[in-house]
Amino acid sequence: MDLRALDNLLAERGEPAFRSKQVWEWLARGAASYEEMTNLPAALREALAAELPISTLELEREVVSEDGTRKALFATADGRPLETVLMSYRDGRRSICVSSQSGCPLTCAFCATGRMAFGRNLTASEIVDQALHFRRRGEVNHCVFMGMGEPLMNLDAVIEACERLPDVGIATSHTTVSTVGWVPGIERLATDGPRVRLALSLHSAEPDVRSSLMPVNDRYPLDEVLQACLRWREARGKRVYIEYLMLAGVNDGPDQALVLAEALKPHEAFKVNLIPFNPTPGELTGSSPNQIAAFRSVLQRSGLPTTVRLTRGRDIAAACGQLAAGGPGTAGSASSIGSRPAAASPPLP
Ligand code: SF4
Repeated sequence: MDLRALDNLLAERGEPAFRSKQVWEWLARGAASYEEMTNLPAALREALAAELPISTLELEREVVSEDGTRKALFATADGRPLETVLMSYRDGRRSICVSSQSGCPLTCAFCATGRMAFGRNLTASEIVDQALHFRRRGEVNHCVFMGMGEPLMNLDAVIEACERLPDVGIATSHTTVSTVGWVPGIERLATDGPRVRLALSLHSAEPDVRSSLMPVNDRYPLDEVLQACLRWREARGKRVYIEYLMLAGVNDGPDQALVLAEALKPHEAFKVNLIPFNPTPGELTGSSPNQIAAFRSVLQRSGLPTTVRLTRGRDIAAACGQLAAGGPGTAGSASSIGSRPAAASPPLP
């Protein structure tokens, strides 16, 4: 829902200001049409249905993984693709992974999104509409900004979206914004907007290796990024979650674990989440379970809390790093529901 367009439309019709709030409350509770908004006059409902789409996004396709993970591919009104993922867990968490940009300008080597052409930043309404899509199917209670795009390059819209998510059922303490290390955004997030959680995609503490995986490291070297993270922690009083993709022969050696443990000090400021690599086209391959276990034990012996991420949605290209608005599990999939492909997201740290 384009909430600014809604306000303008209601003002043009001379409607009282509270009508906008009424519409939003219905949407946040999962309403799928204006017809359901029974506390609005019937004539107004008809006018809204004729003039303002209920969502800024058009669902192109939705696919379902063997593990129940759902991936939706949307198009914006100007035809930009984006993907969103819903992961459901036995403990009741229903976590959405949202996109903040269509495509991404940062070209990380391991990421399918980075190989797409960058489209544009998404608006706050386009971000919130991803959540509302899944809210119409049931409760949603966690959100990670780990879909397409670097959220801190689009921080105004991300903050505005985060401010709306609690109405949809997602508490700020259950919202995680993930960055590859966009320092100005980390600095701003320390003081602006809701007190969300922060995750840093780190992937190597060795400068050359990190730059080869993530060109953003040349612009914002890891030392600067970690200093910004520590300032964020000081301001917000929360740990920073470290995302670390396990790539065979690239960043998964025990010596590299020691370099990582040395970089992440004080250890109580961080928690490391090791991520098994989800296949994307290219030469990178994932570390073996034994290699991941060995890496984890070096970190734990160093005193760093470390977990290994459970991979979800790999068969529909909905897992971490696989979102590309058109990968496997899209057109023609036996489990497809809609009419086009969508994006992916990881479980909460
Ligand atoms: S990992 Fe994130 S920042 Fe890097 S290319 Fe992919 S979407 Fe962009």
